[in-house]
Amino acid sequence: MDYAERVLADLKKKNPGEPEFHQAATEILRSLAPVVERHPEYERTALLERFVEPERVVLFRVPWVDDRGAVHVNKGYRVQFNSAIGPYKGGLRFHPSVDLSVMKFLALEQILKNSLTGLPIGGGKGGSDFDPKGKSDMEVMRFCQSFMAELYRHIGQDTDVPAGDIGVGGREIGYLFGEYKRLCGEHVGVLTGRGLSYGGSLVRTEATGYGLVYMVEEALRCRGDSLEGKRVIISGSGNVAIYACEKAQALGAKVVAMYDSDGYVTDMDGIDVAVLKQIKEVERGRIKVYAARVPGAEYHAGCRGIWSVPCDIALPCATQNEIDAESAALLVKNGVKLIGEGANMPTTLAGIEVFQKAGVVFLPAKAANAGGVATSALEMAQSSGRLYWTFEEVDAKLKAIMTGIYHNMDEAAKAYGVTGDYVAGANIAGFRKVADAMMAQGIV
Ligand code: NDP
Repeated sequence: MDYAERVLADLKKKNPGEPEFHQAATEILRSLAPVVERHPEYERTALLERFVEPERVVLFRVPWVDDRGAVHVNKGYRVQFNSAIGPYKGGLRFHPSVDLSVMKFLALEQILKNSLTGLPIGGGKGGSDFDPKGKSDMEVMRFCQSFMAELYRHIGQDTDVPAGDIGVGGREIGYLFGEYKRLCGEHVGVLTGRGLSYGGSLVRTEATGYGLVYMVEEALRCRGDSLEGKRVIISGSGNVAIYACEKAQALGAKVVAMYDSDGYVTDMDGIDVAVLKQIKEVERGRIKVYAARVPGAEYHAGCRGIWSVPCDIALPCATQNEIDAESAALLVKNGVKLIGEGANMPTTLAGIEVFQKAGVVFLPAKAANAGGVATSALEMAQSSGRLYWTFEEVDAKLKAIMTGIYHNMDEAAKAYGVTGDYVAGANIAGFRKVADAMMAQGIV
């Protein structure tokens, strides 16, 4: 068994019951096999064993009181996985499905994603099994304050800088920041995704969705094609999905279907983004309402059916493992030509295999959704410099970063004899810088 396979087998033995972590590690370690083969010093210094073990995992209790006076207790997590190239950076997720396995898979992916941006940020992730859905603003605020009452001692502008993720948007970041400031007495860039009135960056809200579409645009441009007239499916209808939809349509595509966790809507005229934003961002409502408001749109209960809607491009932007082999095969049968992963690990390993065998252009999450964290790093730069850049400046930097990442992973894939395999290309390109930094810093 080669070195990477041995490390993987050992990881599975040492971390039982963590399927998402195993899945992410399997994909990453298998594609790094040719890299570690060229560098025998990695094995001598147990580099991969160190790479897959988090530097620190913080697990804590989050007690809070609801509007009726009942007391609830949730689990809080922060996985500080790797700080070789910069302070830990990665979002906070509030969703009932959050557990240690989900946190570790996200943090492991984040290390390579952050490296790919070319910016000095290490990898981390955190969150809670708290569900903000159906809670009042005051309940969400009390939860965020209790969560930060423990988290504040583990984070800092030069050590660990969290941001949003599923269930954590502008409202939650505001409450978390307010509590951090009260506890530490510092108005610093300790969280990104902040509101514009207290240190946030323009384009951060749009960044992940826009960045995803910039990469799709570049991949098409390199093939002599464009988004003009393309039919696109986007899963999810949260932050990433909404802004992917907005940018894709601005560039000439038609987004014909989107979903939330209850069901999906189709709109063959192209999703009306203003109506979508009103329902999702203002009213915090369900996507079903879209079909009731927009003539010609249809609602279908359940999520899976979305993958049966014929399209040229699919952008999964909700959550992990949304596309399995069966859904992938259906998309291929219906003519999909490109997949851009906005969510983290939305395609199963078997699903990826189906796409790659069919010759579908597959842009993996750690590259395709890196625009959010890249813009977070730009927010950190603006915070430390006490300055603000214009929308156009940040947007131009985001676009340059996304096209840069595309070419970086494309070239890495070519250099290792797997041309067009962007899963391998992204892992290799991201890993090289982290490995160099880890080697330079000794056995730590
Ligand atoms: P949001 O909370 O804003 O939106 C999430 C969307 O996905 C909602 O429409 C939600 O539906 C749906 N969803 C979540 N879980 C499930 C599920 N188990 N089944 C079906 N639908 C589900 O999150 P974001 O848009 O911020 O994040 C979406 C994805 O993008 C995540 O994988 C995240 O890690 C990734 N990402 C986000 C970044 C960011 O900047 N925000 C950066 C990089 C990656 P419902 O409301 O019904 O739950």
